[in-house]
Amino acid sequence: MNLVLLGPPGAGKGTQAKLICERYELIHLSTGDLLRAEITKGGDLGIKLEEIINAGKLVSNEIIIEVIKKFINSNKKKKGYLFDGFPRNIEQAELLHTLLKSINQVIKCVLLIDVSNDILKQRILSRREKEGRSDDNEETLLNRLNTYITETTPLINYYEQIDLLKKIVGEGEISHINQRINDAVEEI
Ligand code: ADP
Repeated sequence: MNLVLLGPPGAGKGTQAKLICERYELIHLSTGDLLRAEITKGGDLGIKLEEIINAGKLVSNEIIIEVIKKFINSNKKKKGYLFDGFPRNIEQAELLHTLLKSINQVIKCVLLIDVSNDILKQRILSRREKEGRSDDNEETLLNRLNTYITETTPLINYYEQIDLLKKIVGEGEISHINQRINDAVEEI
C-alpha cells in the first residue's frame, strides 16, 4: 500500500507520518528529510539546496526525482511507501505516477491534512524554538506558505478528480488526528 501525505508546512505531516508508518508498516519517504541529509553531507549540492530551502522555494524536479529514486532503490522492504512532502506540484505528481507504474504499484490514497493559516504560523514558530530548523523563521515560513498555495494546492483538485483525495481535519490532538487518518485509510 502506498500513501501520499499532503498539507501545508507545519500541518504536522512528519508527526503523523511516523504513526502511519508504524501502524501500516510503511517506509517513510520524506523529501524534506532526504534533502536535509544531503545538506548535512556538505558539498556543492548541499550548499545549493540549503539556499533554495531557506528561501522557501522548491528544489528542482530533477534533483527531487534523483533523490527519490536513490532512496527507493535502497529501501525496498516493508509493505509500501508513505510519501511525505512529495509530490509538491503537478509535474511531480506525474513523475510519481510513472515511477510507481514502473514498479507495478499505485497510490491507494492521498491524505490532505487541513489546518488553518493562524494555527500553522503558531506551530511553526514554536517548532523553530524547539528544533532550530533554519527554514522556520517568519519570512521563510511566509514564502513556504506562498509556494504551497501557488504550486502545491493545485494537487488538491488533481487528486480529487481521480478520486484519491481524503481530507483530514488537522487540528486538535495528535492522537485524534491520527485516528481520523486511520479511519480514512481503512474506509477505502
Ligand atoms: P514542511 O513539511 O515543513 O513543508 P519539508 O521538510 O517537507 O517541510 O520540506 C522542507 C523544504 O524542502 C521545502 O520548503 C522545499 O524547499 C524542499 N522540498 C521538500 N520536498 C520537496 C519537493 N518534493 N519538491 C521541491 N522541494 C522540496
